[in-house]
Amino acid sequence: MIFSKFNDNIKRQLSGPDWLIHENRWDDERQSFYETIFTLGNGKMGTRAVLEEIPKGASPGTFAAGIYDSMGAQVTELVNLPNPMNFRIIANGEKLGVDTMDVKEHMRVLDLKSGILARRTLYNSTYCGRLDYQSMRFLSMDNIGLGVIEIYLTPLDKTVDISFESSIDISVTNKGLLTEGQKKHFHVIDFDKKSSLNYIQVTTFEKEINVGYGSVLKYAISKTCRVVPRRVFKLKIQKGKTVCLTKYFYITNSMDVSSKALKSYVVKRLRKASRKKVQQLISETKDAWQKRWNISDILIKGDAAVQRALRFNLYHMIICGSENGGRSSIGARTLSGEGYRGHIFWDTEIFLLPFYIYNYPEIAKSLLLYRYNRLDAALKIANERGYKGALYPWESADRGQECTPSWVKDADGRIIKIATALREHHIVADVAYAVHQFIRVTNDIDFALKYGLEMMLYSAMFWISRLDYDKKTGTYAINNIIGPDEFHEDVNNNAYTNSMAKWNIIRTCEYVKSLKAKYPQDVRQVLSKLNILDRDLKRWMRTTFKIRHAYPYREGIIEAFDGYFKKQKVPVMHAKGALQMPVPRFRVVDKDKTQLVKQADVVMLLYLLSDKFSMKSKRLNYRFYLERTIHESSLSSSIHSIVGSDVGDRLRAYRFFLLALNTDLGNVHKNSDDGIHAACLGGVWQAVINGFAGMRFVRNMFYFEPKIPAHWQSMEFNIKREGIILNVLIDRKTIRFYFESQKKDRKIVLNVFGDLQVIKANESRSFKRRDNVMKVKDIMHKRVVTLSGSMDVQSIAKVLTTKKITGAPVVDKKGCLIGFLSERDMMKAACDIKNFRKKKAENIMTRKIYTVQPEMAVERIAQVFDRRNYRTIPVVKKDKIVGIIKRSDIIDRILGEYY
Ligand code: BGC
Ligand code: BGC
Repeated sequence: MIFSKFNDNIKRQLSGPDWLIHENRWDDERQSFYETIFTLGNGKMGTRAVLEEIPKGASPGTFAAGIYDSMGAQVTELVNLPNPMNFRIIANGEKLGVDTMDVKEHMRVLDLKSGILARRTLYNSTYCGRLDYQSMRFLSMDNIGLGVIEIYLTPLDKTVDISFESSIDISVTNKGLLTEGQKKHFHVIDFDKKSSLNYIQVTTFEKEINVGYGSVLKYAISKTCRVVPRRVFKLKIQKGKTVCLTKYFYITNSMDVSSKALKSYVVKRLRKASRKKVQQLISETKDAWQKRWNISDILIKGDAAVQRALRFNLYHMIICGSENGGRSSIGARTLSGEGYRGHIFWDTEIFLLPFYIYNYPEIAKSLLLYRYNRLDAALKIANERGYKGALYPWESADRGQECTPSWVKDADGRIIKIATALREHHIVADVAYAVHQFIRVTNDIDFALKYGLEMMLYSAMFWISRLDYDKKTGTYAINNIIGPDEFHEDVNNNAYTNSMAKWNIIRTCEYVKSLKAKYPQDVRQVLSKLNILDRDLKRWMRTTFKIRHAYPYREGIIEAFDGYFKKQKVPVMHAKGALQMPVPRFRVVDKDKTQLVKQADVVMLLYLLSDKFSMKSKRLNYRFYLERTIHESSLSSSIHSIVGSDVGDRLRAYRFFLLALNTDLGNVHKNSDDGIHAACLGGVWQAVINGFAGMRFVRNMFYFEPKIPAHWQSMEFNIKREGIILNVLIDRKTIRFYFESQKKDRKIVLNVFGDLQVIKANESRSFKRRDNVMKVKDIMHKRVVTLSGSMDVQSIAKVLTTKKITGAPVVDKKGCLIGFLSERDMMKAACDIKNFRKKKAENIMTRKIYTVQPEMAVERIAQVFDRRNYRTIPVVKKDKIVGIIKRSDIIDRILGEYY
């Protein structure tokens, strides 16, 4: 067992292998990567897993949700706060550390179940011989603000003189960019010592947010524990003896506690906590973690690697979200790095939110309140650009203003302008979509009336003002847009944006109507606050019919935006390895001129507005854009996995899932050093629940149509809704539901495998998956119109028109099939005008016909339909017709499997 070298104290804390992520050797080039991967957090704060000795090239990162500052930076950014994990240990005059001593062995383990990070490094030093160094740290999930780190040092070869120094490192800065250099966003305003407790308080430059840090240090040799009054002290450690150093720290800020009370609050909380044994604090944090896992764990049997990686994704969502009344939201790189300067994008509402809605609805509510609380800023942005309603910033931070940098300098010193803030307006509909999702799943009417409706109305209002009317065609366009596919930076009528805008307006109007029926007074109040009249809503609704290039589309390929089809087609190569993305066959300098797509765009639409597309349309578009999308953004693969599952492209759906699942663990985009890809975490959850488990919530009801990967034995998860936790267990053959409730008559109605089912409280119910091999007889039509071979054309025509059919099988006197007569046959015969009337069915019918038997598997004939242009095929048993099978019946159900 690779963990056997940890001491008993650490070993006893660690969970089973399905919960552990490890680093097995020291590699300075992977330092930043592991700092991100092993980030610890408690929802309000995150700290990167920097090694305690802060080696060269380390990037300490301690971030608090909602603390941003712009001093010295082009745009406001998440502040990198002082680092509490900072130690300097000198052994016989030599600094202990991976870059100063010889590293014989090194390993770290993150225990996802309890949020504990453990380390062991075996050094061989010039003056001390072998030194066994171990550490264990955690941020408490129970007592939010508290953190503990323990260090164990054992000289193995000789007695060693040690000097320890522990500090809260205030020298940290935000990363230096080419044009900005390193930036410090805070300064120290208080430095105090209260007997053995050290206190330090910093304040941010611009907004003067105070952050208080307290720390207490203790050490023990052979179980005698001492509190160390100083930050620096010396010790002699005998050969083979272990010194254990424990640092308790407590961090909180003036967004939670008033600046005045901050110090006494920190001191009081820390004093109380530091009186407890570490083991006790660990039990408390473990219990708190267990409560979270009880709801959000997903159990996968049959694939241990997927199980672990999935928990890694869930872990990172647990540590970055908190219930905070909308004070802050989650940035694109969580609280684990400085990527995208901690800014908040549509990633939160479209990718992350579903996880929280179904696991922690209070956190989901906070995320939406974050937008609501900043509506004023969004109204201002819209107004300044000449629009009405709310235009949410493409990149948001603390105050809801636009924070997208307007330019960056690349490595060659070229200035690159960034247009997303000006044109990536789909964010408005994305937020509305999220509001709608939250309300319909949670049924939180209070939220709807107080906040949701207003948010929906302001976004609909924005779209109405954003439409350009074209007098010539009498239609509305949305011009000068960037869609999710950011390769094309100024396009007209992006299908995603136009459809989402239309959906946004229609849904808002419908929403007003339905809420008004029950809560007329409240709705009237909101409408009058926004100055919206009934006739405005009617006008908005009429407008939606004229929005160009929005759903419903004609069956066929949806053009991503005006003129897309005319762009150059660049063939892409699909990589063989599971963790590689497709690449263009040749180097492309200007992607704007090509059909290359950065990420799910039309495909995103197929998912979000799934019910607006037929299976045929989904399949066509998914396939078409698959050949053009290079997944340069981490937001792409999870969505392709879900749509892939939907259309039956199972193998690829699974590959896309693996790609999304391992985005950070596999450093797929080579930038995990800058933080965890938040959207991807949520995308993975959706790929599992909405993709493989096939769960959808439509018209107030859950639908389940699972398609779990063939090698998984089972998957199990929970869904929280209206106070109930529904447990779902899916294996290859069955799906089982269970929920507990005090109210014994509580029921849930579900749609499982296409049938309505009722689940009662405290009773588990299982449903068998329909036999995978669908037989022709399962879907054939038994009532068949047949023609007799001796019938003349007059009578044939009469039968076809009265039955409204385009062709029918022809039988002989004994009822045996002898041919098939289609409209085309009639047309052909009609060319011979002279003899037309005299002709009989047996003279004009097609004799070579394809028939199938009732026991045949549908899959087999699906290919026939795919290759030939048949509309119907007669089903025959012992030469007699027993039914007919139509192309339209099987095509949607089967042909998705085009592997
Ligand atoms: C992203 C944009 C973002 C810009 C500036 C780009 O990499 O694709 O969405 O606005 O960076 O942060
Ligand atoms: C993507 C955006 C995303 C942003 C932040 C960009 O690369 O194109 O869709 O919002 O990254 O994750």
